[in-house]
Amino acid sequence: MRVGKMVLVAIVALGMAPAALVAAEPAGLSPALALAHLLEGNQRFAQGTPQSPRRSVERRLEVAHHQAPFAAVLCCADSRVAPELIFDQGLGDLFVVRVAGNIEQEDLAASVKYAVHHLHARLVVVVGHQRCGAVTAALDDNEAPYYVEHVVRSIRPVVRESRGQPGDPLVNAVHANIRSVVQRLLDRPLIHLLAKAGKVRVVGAYYDMDSGLVDLVDDDSPHARAPREER
Ligand SMILES: [Zn+2]
Repeated sequence: MRVGKMVLVAIVALGMAPAALVAAEPAGLSPALALAHLLEGNQRFAQGTPQSPRRSVERRLEVAHHQAPFAAVLCCADSRVAPELIFDQGLGDLFVVRVAGNIEQEDLAASVKYAVHHLHARLVVVVGHQRCGAVTAALDDNEAPYYVEHVVRSIRPVVRESRGQPGDPLVNAVHANIRSVVQRLLDRPLIHLLAKAGKVRVVGAYYDMDSGLVDLVDDDSPHARAPREER
């Protein structure tokens, strides 16, 4: 679903005026509102009209002793995919876990668990992106540099399965990797329980660097789908 449509649907469904959504303090948002908030920020970023919210000295001091991020983001480490920028969010809004290829491994999953269990973030977004170097290396059967071999090894089995599908092989591979990571997170017992109870939603997202837009990836698995809730 295109982002603009997604945001509109979410806003209409939740009965909120767009302006109210922008101004809303994001901490404590339901999964659905948290997602709408992120996607609206991405619209601002893509259109070149970011608000750069919650980046003042006052905000820095406000969150200096306590954090309550409304979403966790597991994102590729690529320098062009900074979550606070592409979602136009501020200090203390996002609990960000970054690694090349946005892979899922024990330590990375532990950070996501901390965000949803201890900090009560209600949304987890796995962000992959256009022209990802790590996924490109995984598609290439030649040996990757030794220091990224474990990253590439983690992605390779998934992207191999995407071979032969119609469309661009790299785009397909990035999408396959995102879907796989979402599923792996949902397979973690703690996240599984929180998702099943509707307390946490885990979604995949593809960031197009050319357009600046983020699109949701297959947001229709039973556990990714959260019941509509208010704050
Ligand atoms: Zn990447």
